[in-house]
Amino acid sequence: MSISNTEIEKILEKTFLDIKDTVGEGVFELWFKPIKLSSIKDNQLTLEIPNRFYKEWIEDNYPDLIENTVSNIANSHYTIKYKIHERVDSEIKKNENKKEIKRQKLVSRGIFLNPKYSFSNFVVGASNDFAHAASKKVAENPGKTYNPLFIYGSSGLGKTHLLNAIGNELFDRNPSLNIYYKAVDVLTNEIITSLRQGKTGELLETFRPVDVFLVDDIHFIAGKEGTQVQFFHIFNALYENQKQIILTSDRPPIEIADISDRLRSRFNMGLIADIQPPDIETKIAILHKKAENEGLKIPDDVAYFISSRIKSNIRDLEGCLIRLGAHSSLTGRKIDLELTKVVLKELLVDDEKPINADLVLKIVSEYFNIKASDIKSKKRTKEISNARQISMYLCKKTTNMSLTEIGNSFGGKDHATVIYACKQIDERLKGDEGFNKLIEVLVKRIKNQ
Ligand code: ADP
Ligand code: MG
Repeated sequence: MSISNTEIEKILEKTFLDIKDTVGEGVFELWFKPIKLSSIKDNQLTLEIPNRFYKEWIEDNYPDLIENTVSNIANSHYTIKYKIHERVDSEIKKNENKKEIKRQKLVSRGIFLNPKYSFSNFVVGASNDFAHAASKKVAENPGKTYNPLFIYGSSGLGKTHLLNAIGNELFDRNPSLNIYYKAVDVLTNEIITSLRQGKTGELLETFRPVDVFLVDDIHFIAGKEGTQVQFFHIFNALYENQKQIILTSDRPPIEIADISDRLRSRFNMGLIADIQPPDIETKIAILHKKAENEGLKIPDDVAYFISSRIKSNIRDLEGCLIRLGAHSSLTGRKIDLELTKVVLKELLVDDEKPINADLVLKIVSEYFNIKASDIKSKKRTKEISNARQISMYLCKKTTNMSLTEIGNSFGGKDHATVIYACKQIDERLKGDEGFNKLIEVLVKRIKNQ
């Protein structure tokens, strides 16, 4: 029996009250309030939203929230479709349709890759070119070059994007390839179920036909011993048959605590590629690329403004653009610096303290309990030299200062001294896990000041 419009209006009203509680008033007013019921057919609700940026924002931030809340309140499962109110540029529409067709093809084969992530929309810069090149190689020649490929980097830097780009490229080249792509928690659940049912042998069998094995966020396997044992068997079976394995993680294998040594050594067997936070040029390029794909025009000063305010997370960078796009489409205002400052007010902290040599000195001197003036002096006791070398290294890492400027800030040392200090620190970082942690802590403190 189909439900009447009045009934569904009531359900929706309750849904949005619930959502307001979940997401908070500010987010609700901005993103959810403009959503209206368009039509209902069987258990599919079509909701009208102002423009495509709303769709993108909701799908990125709360992919299942409306669907789940409606279904709970209605006590029956509903699926949600969006109807976009604005007229969408035909080129963008064509691209969206293409992606949707690919998504359906993938889903029909049980592959849940996201077609929106490709190599062609991945911007390459100094921070990610190694991981990008390795991914490309693997996509061109799976199982033959680097196995496994282990990509690591902090959150929001493009790991999931690259992993999907590899999968998508492999699928485009050979649609009959058996691609396994899952987040590690889904795989973990499959393993746990098989353990509970005593069917681990059967589970292992299901991996026999897999040609390419992609697992996102493998670091979550830490601390789960039973799961690790099974994962180890799956890994070995695939590896021995030269099936390509690609894993991502928020840290390198050596820093994943609580995994068995044999698994760690498996992760280390192929190629380890890191993604670093992007420099400002890469951030600007990403903004322009994304804007171009979305049919938005952003002036250079706006791209520069956003890129210099968003520290490293590319997800946040894109979030700014989506917000701007949503606002500009809704109001018809063109995107300029003035609009940007208003729309992104809460997202961009503009009274941030700049990172400079003084700040680095302050943090290091507090940490080691050594006077900043001693660090800057010519004293050469072990403790002071150590703190000085670390400070110079941190200046190089966290500021845009040149080597000469760094030398000058440390009591007029020359740039060769700075190079020497950085080399010494790099050397120590290679073998010493504890020292790595120390540097990490200091960098965090500097960035969070
Ligand atoms: P991670 O998995 O490392 O947390 P994601 O792959 O989810 O990060 O990336 C976050 C967002 O930033 C995604 O929308 C992704 O498309 C985008 N992104 C990251 N790196 C790049 C890049 N180099 N070029 C274009 N977009 C990127
Ligand atoms: Mg990810």
